[in-house]
Amino acid sequence: MDPKVEGIIAKVQEDAAIDYEEAVFLIGLDEASPEATAVRGAANGLSRARHGNAGAIWGQIGIDVYPCEADCQFCSFAKSTTCFTEHVTMPVDEVVRRAKEFTKGGDLFGLYLMTMNSYDEDHYLECVRAVRAVIPDSTLLVSNIGDTDLPYFRKLKEAGLDGAYHVKRIGEGELTNISPERREATIRAAFEAGLRMEDCCEPIGADTPAEAIATRMFEMKARHREMDCYDGCGVMKRTSVPCTRFEGLGNEITNMRLGLLNGVLSFVFADEKRYPWIGFHEANMVSLMSGGCCVTAETGFNPRDTSEDTSAGRGLDVPAVREMFYQAGFRKLVLGDGSTVDLTPEYMALKIAEG
Ligand code: SF4
Repeated sequence: MDPKVEGIIAKVQEDAAIDYEEAVFLIGLDEASPEATAVRGAANGLSRARHGNAGAIWGQIGIDVYPCEADCQFCSFAKSTTCFTEHVTMPVDEVVRRAKEFTKGGDLFGLYLMTMNSYDEDHYLECVRAVRAVIPDSTLLVSNIGDTDLPYFRKLKEAGLDGAYHVKRIGEGELTNISPERREATIRAAFEAGLRMEDCCEPIGADTPAEAIATRMFEMKARHREMDCYDGCGVMKRTSVPCTRFEGLGNEITNMRLGLLNGVLSFVFADEKRYPWIGFHEANMVSLMSGGCCVTAETGFNPRDTSEDTSAGRGLDVPAVREMFYQAGFRKLVLGDGSTVDLTPEYMALKIAEG
């Protein structure tokens, strides 16, 4: 074992965080090495200790799809490469039906309503209002929408929105038609509207430099310190989905590497008293054993899928995610209001019987 890695792990176990140089070094480890395995294991222990061995189930409903003018080169909806030709928007009653399906077990931490870069604001507002009316108070309702200004975020908050997921992505303005400044302005607007904030280091491909990943991790940490309403952050791989510039498995990182990145992100936050909920995408067991503690079930449209309904493609449903947490040895699920349910064999049997 490299003594440098041993020293870093010992430091983190004393609740000290790693610095930027250490993050770059760890990201560069061979993912199958004993050192990377040790990082993943230590991060698993760290996250579970901080959150009482609890995990969070998220859900996401993609409510529309069209060839998108933002043209993000990693997205299957990007107008220059997409296989989608039509503009399809899910009706409000269908969004509500799917929201009820996601929350019927009563243990969903949060639900994202996802649109494209531009979207019908009236329709989205109606979806927020209608979904908020049927989901439990203990489930957060969170936007995943295109760039947006303060007045509209205020309307969304009044309609029952709890939080916003908005990210300045790696390669923003180069791999996308959106400027990093516009993304930042949207994040500030959501914060000013009083919404809870969700962040992510994404998209990460096989060619993404370690420095770019580490830089985003430390930006997330700075934001977490500034924003008392910051719930969670994570790491997301760039998928090699057809109808994108990055089609082809050689472009994609493995789940072992994604798990290592979960470990590094956990170490970046090791000195935080308000330790965030650390997520990853897509769902996989390695990350769940490496400091990751949020998994998202998905339905509807998905920019990492070419299926019109991702629950029939790449997306997992809530029972499958719950089972992942149980099999990974998590013993609690946390809800959006901070309450928890015990993830016991009896609870699992009950949820299976409820269907
Ligand atoms: S990632 Fe979002 S904004 Fe970018 S092309 Fe896809 S749908 Fe549009």
